[in-house]
Amino acid sequence: MASESQSAAVMTDGFHLVVDALKLNGINTIYGVAGIPITDLARLAQAEGMRYIGFRHEQSAGNAAAISGYLTQKPGICLTVSAPGFLNGMVALANATTNGFPMIQISGSSNRAIVDLQQGDYEELDQMNAAKPYAKAAFRVNRPEDIGIGIARAIRAAVSGRPGGVYLDLTAEALSAVIDAETGKQSLVHVVDPAPRRIPAPEAVERALDLLATAKRPLIILGKGAAYAQADQDIRSLIETTGIPFLPMSMAKGLLPDDHPQSAAAARSLVLAQADVVMLIGARLNWLLAHGKGAQWSPTAQFIQVDIEPTEMDSNRAIAAPVVGDIASVVSAFLAYVKPGATKVSTEWLTAIAERRKHNTEKMAVQLAANPSPMNFSSALRVIRDVLADKPDIYVVNEGANTLDFGRNIIDMRKPRMRLDSGTWGVMGIGMGYAIGAAVVSHQPVVAIEGDSAFGFSGMELETICRYELPVVIVVFNNGGIYKGNGVNPTGGSDPSPTTLMQGARYEKLIEAFGGVGYSVSDPQALTLALNDSLASGKPTLIDCIIDPKAGTESGHIQNLNPKNALSSMK
Ligand code: ADP
Ligand code: MG
Repeated sequence: MASESQSAAVMTDGFHLVVDALKLNGINTIYGVAGIPITDLARLAQAEGMRYIGFRHEQSAGNAAAISGYLTQKPGICLTVSAPGFLNGMVALANATTNGFPMIQISGSSNRAIVDLQQGDYEELDQMNAAKPYAKAAFRVNRPEDIGIGIARAIRAAVSGRPGGVYLDLTAEALSAVIDAETGKQSLVHVVDPAPRRIPAPEAVERALDLLATAKRPLIILGKGAAYAQADQDIRSLIETTGIPFLPMSMAKGLLPDDHPQSAAAARSLVLAQADVVMLIGARLNWLLAHGKGAQWSPTAQFIQVDIEPTEMDSNRAIAAPVVGDIASVVSAFLAYVKPGATKVSTEWLTAIAERRKHNTEKMAVQLAANPSPMNFSSALRVIRDVLADKPDIYVVNEGANTLDFGRNIIDMRKPRMRLDSGTWGVMGIGMGYAIGAAVVSHQPVVAIEGDSAFGFSGMELETICRYELPVVIVVFNNGGIYKGNGVNPTGGSDPSPTTLMQGARYEKLIEAFGGVGYSVSDPQALTLALNDSLASGKPTLIDCIIDPKAGTESGHIQNLNPKNALSSMK
């Protein structure tokens, strides 16, 4: 009799509860690599109507999850197997935390009792503790009835305040444990208001606007936090109403179009050196802004910083007017006070910027007009710029050293959050993951502009791109090396130099192996044709773009960060 009533009871298990909890919170996509103990989780997610995108390496799955989080303000989910798969995903999780992208890495883990006694389980690792230094938060779920709470905590940690990467450990026992379905259902949490607004204090708003009103040479710096906030219209109004010149950090390009008359991007060194009041909106004073001090900056500049993270203030330089709040709320609070003409931006300031901008633009135009053979970074990027000029809805992914530096300056963006690049770490290896994530969430085409070395870190994801038939076009800037392809082994031995890659590599053959379209181009006409054709076809495409092995500089624009051998002059 007992067995009869048991079989009548409706049961669920940890796998089902994870999928139910994600769906309940509007999360519809998982990026991952299947294996023990999460294969059934991936299968079940797909069976239950979620989209599962399977990768070849967890780092790319994690990068796709992170960028989808950046684009949607919902945590991207990366699913990894235990120990090695978990660690492979960790680079992406750390990168997400560093960049402020919301993602959750969910990983299965081995038997706790065995792991804790270090008895050598299959893929044994204390994953939660290994994740902690790299994650904004890390949680472990040991019982199926805690899955709902575990996922709720992970969602809140990922998207509230400064977004970041969250690690969620699911033990194999919790996944396979069976509980009563009604109890399971009751344990799920629909997260209400996962990223609560942070309204700035009125006195902080007043202090900031008072300081801004004293400025003669004000500057607004927009960072990717401003892009993330999706307050596009208000940010534009703030800039246009005040008439203050703005400088976009690389992933904030397009928040206002790059050809906006108030853009000071082409006068960057002038505005950093001479601005008297600088308002940072969702941009940190880290290495990308020379920490707000030193030769690039005016020592007397005063700073207003708008950021959701209170401890960001004074992290590199004194902040005279901190405004802690979410950017949408802060900018709308500013807009309640700023009236056209209220800020006195001096005419000399605007003239100086306009002159410098004209001068630098003309200088760059000369560089861009050159038609060297073989092509160099500028001439190949000019082609891409021209092809993309009337296609503002195409995402641009960009990584490399010179490919990144030149790409950032040459490729104009017209819409917010369309440029996805190496970000805060200047990391290599985000290319294919970001391209896949952007294509999956947006259904828009993506052009990934990749240095040949940078591409190599995630190149196997070409198979993923082809398997899901994503509209991704990869342009590999093939100069046969890290930085350059003309490195020399000083011993005269047959080993290539440390920065040399395979000379004459045919990257387009790689995508052909998976049924994608490959082009090899070595002049601007062929590149134009190939890029236009591939964008028109929407097919996965790789364009091997052969450029001069001598083109480029070591470490690109950040040579100053590269310690040099002091005792010899090797090059
Ligand atoms: P960039 O590299 O473009 O300069 P950073 O990553 O250095 O940008 O800075 C982004 C900043 O934006 C971080 O300090 C983060 O705390 C902040 N931020 C992110 N989202 C928001 C938001 N919605 N409201 C306020 N600040 C935010
Ligand atoms: Mg190269």
